[in-house]
Amino acid sequence: MTEQHMVQLLQKRGVTVGAIAEIVFKLQRPYNDKLTIEECADSVMAVLAKREVQYTLYTGIALDELAEKKQLPQPLQTILEKDEPLYGVDETLALGIVHVYGMIGLTSFGFLDKEKIGIIRTLNDNKAAVHVFLDDLVCGLAAAASARIAHQNENAPDYSANAPLD
Ligand code: MG
Repeated sequence: MTEQHMVQLLQKRGVTVGAIAEIVFKLQRPYNDKLTIEECADSVMAVLAKREVQYTLYTGIALDELAEKKQLPQPLQTILEKDEPLYGVDETLALGIVHVYGMIGLTSFGFLDKEKIGIIRTLNDNKAAVHVFLDDLVCGLAAAASARIAHQNENAPDYSANAPLD
């Protein structure tokens, strides 16, 4: 498994590294005016290179795809088809991606899960496919890549409260 496999897997599900990088850029640019979209894409690739991230993506995307093919056992099939609000396993799984990067990643994940910016909104609004896991996985990837950049920024403010620089 390489990060290139992960790029292809995501692409097959309608998500590009560029789309995730745009979210990372939106999150981190206010703290770093030299930040480029390329650095954000590099950070996404570094997250995709991690074995535990790869396993998480395989698992979540497989469940989405099985639900689309109506191959999951009940009651799971119906729960995923309806994207039951109380299900929560999608968020729990995706949090595994963020967890390595500590509080910064966690704060960003919560923000993205609520605001659903960019490709996350597109996935969430596309009712023709099952994206129960994928939208949260993308939140996780963007939050983790964002936290990586924040950790490298020596001028970083106290991100634990996501406070903007003054
Ligand atoms: Mg979800």
